[in-house]
Formats: sequence, structure tokens, C-alpha cells
Amino acid sequence: MRRIIKGARVILSDRIEDNTDVLIKDGKIEALMPHGENALPDCEVIDAKGLFLSPGFVDIHLHGGGGADFMDCEQDTYFSASEAHLAHGTTSLMPTLMSASRESLRRAVVAYNDALGDRRIRANMLGIHIEGPYLSPAQCGAMSPEAIRVFDEREYKSLWELSMGNIRRWGAAPELAGASEFAQFANDHAIALSIAHSNADFDTVLNAYDMGFRHVTHLYSATSTVTRKSGFRIAGVLEAAYYIDGMNIELIADGCHLPTSLIKFATKFKSHDRISLITDAMSIAGTDATEGYIGAKDSPTPVIVEDGVAKLTDRTAFGGSIATADRLIRTALDADIPLYTAVKMLTENPLRSMGLIVKKGRIEAGYDADLVLFDSDISVKSVIVGGKTVI
Ligand SMILES: [Zn+2]
Repeated sequence: MRRIIKGARVILSDRIEDNTDVLIKDGKIEALMPHGENALPDCEVIDAKGLFLSPGFVDIHLHGGGGADFMDCEQDTYFSASEAHLAHGTTSLMPTLMSASRESLRRAVVAYNDALGDRRIRANMLGIHIEGPYLSPAQCGAMSPEAIRVFDEREYKSLWELSMGNIRRWGAAPELAGASEFAQFANDHAIALSIAHSNADFDTVLNAYDMGFRHVTHLYSATSTVTRKSGFRIAGVLEAAYYIDGMNIELIADGCHLPTSLIKFATKFKSHDRISLITDAMSIAGTDATEGYIGAKDSPTPVIVEDGVAKLTDRTAFGGSIATADRLIRTALDADIPLYTAVKMLTENPLRSMGLIVKKGRIEAGYDADLVLFDSDISVKSVIVGGKTVI
């Protein structure tokens, strides 16, 4: 049976269409039609009542939500986290594994594969994102220093085998010894490489780009910038990310990790097509909890929630974001980004940046009918996955 969404403000890549009906058939968008009678036989009409209709949000960097962290590896972990974000419009996600011991990482990779068989999960799983453990000790941020290490070929090859090809993104520091072999391995297996928690200098980033690192993990968080060595200035990851036209960046647009001033700055000097918005959400995103933890349950780092963000208990640093996708759009609007551009940064840009060949992220004929209806406060009213209303 067909469904038709009428009366929505349809968000396209470059504009908002007020007089367009969206026809859905067999889980896909069949056509966009000028608003009118469009009385089709056997067609359910969804009256959007003037709400915005957006492609479903795509979060390529999140550690959990709804009380669960993807390192937990419990029966309900993926279900709880994905449902919490689905309620806020995230229809596709890349569950992100934190730096952890060899054993914890292996368990977490297996847990992802197990979750693929959990029929309760309604959001799309786009593949595993591993953030670490090959990161710079000087830029570990909220990652536990004991959990980070230098490139270990035996480990990453065996994690890949274990994942059965499901690792799709890997964040690492390209200044560490063994980076070019790691990059070669990732390129050979179509794993998107991201510069993460890196203290690299400018030239090392130029090299890393040539090796295949085409994305920078949460710019401004755990990314090196200008330093001085014996008086001489050395540029870092931050400057190189702007300098290299083809480098993609992602921003934690929760309004805390990045204030609107830095989001304005980034969108003025970087092509909009190269920017993705991410939540980098931790376990208590999508809950009312005021305390939680990050990382694996057997080696947790406690955090508290204050000012809309999770902080380490000594308040010296943020320990993760509690944002959901709708909040990223609100923050982007506060930074004077047009709504259709903000939506693009949370739909087609992340998919392109990760090199994922999927028909998602746009409202266009032939694309999957993963859709979100929200009001002018970006409060999500309904979510559709594969043509079915799930929220
Ligand atoms: Zn992260």
C-alpha cells in the first residue's frame, strides 16, 4: 500500500518546498508531486498539518543513549540506545566504540554483530565506528589514558575479521608509528579513516590526507592547534582541517562543546558540504539522569550533568555530550545556519563523508522513506523508517 504525506514543509538539499506531497511505496520515496488532490487508489493520507518534513537524521558518532553505552554489551544495549535517539529523529546511526582494553573492544564488536539480529531495533545500523584506541596521549580528552596505545597490526586486523566487515569508520592519530600501514589496511577494506584525538602537526595532517584520512573527529575537541617550539610556531590539526579543501569535519553542535561562535566560524570558513553534525552522545543522552559514566562498565569514568553537558566529576573537562539530534539542529539555527543546510549536515553530509553508498539522507524519488516530522521548535512529532511510522 502507498502512503502520501500532504501538507508538510518539505526540506530538500537546497530549499524548503511548501507545496509538495511525498508519495511512499514499498519503503521508498516513490515521487514528489505538486500539492493537490493526488487522490490515488489504496493510498493512506498522512496530514502533516504544516510540520517540517526532513530526511531521517544520521548520527555517525554516538556512544550510547537511553541509559546504555555501546561498550556495555548487554542484551538491551543497542535497543535502548537506538530507541532513545530514534525518538529524537535519528533513523540511522554508527554506534561508536570507545578506546578500551583488547578484550573489551573484542566483546563490543561481537555485541554489535549480535545486535544486528535483534528484531526490536528499528533504526538503521550503518556499521561500527571505533574511536581509538590508537590515539595521542597528549589529546586523550575523556578517553582513559590506560586504554590508548600505538598501532597494533595484529589487533586491528583481528578486530576487522571479528566484525565480519562491519567496521565502517575508524578514528586514529596519524602521527603514531604504523599509521601508513593502518591507513592502507583501512583503504583496502573501505573503512572511512578519521583523524581523532590527534596531536599531529600541519604537515603530518597533509600526509595523512594523502594516506586516506578524509575526516576529522569532533573538530576543536582533542585536536591540536598552533603551538610553539623554541619560539617557532607550528600549526596543527585545526588549521590543516580548514586548509585542506577536501577534508571533512564534524562538529558536536550541542551548544556546549562548541559555542555558536565557533559553529559560525566553522561554517564561514569551511564548505557546508564538508561539515557534519554529531551528538557524540553518551549513555544518559535522552534521559533525565544527572549522573552517569562513560566507557566500559567494568572500567567506568563517572560523570555529572550540569549546564546541559556531562562533565568529569572534578569539572576539569567535559565527559561527553547528552545531546540528541534535534538539539543539533536547534544549535545550528542559533548559529544562523539555514534550516535546510543544518538538516543536510545531519543527513546527506555524514553519509557522503563516510563513503556510505546508501539511498538515504534525501527526500528524493528512489531514496529510502526514512523521514522525520517536526515543528518550528524542532520538536519531533513523528518518525518514519522504511515507510513505516515508528514514532
Ligand atoms: Zn566520541
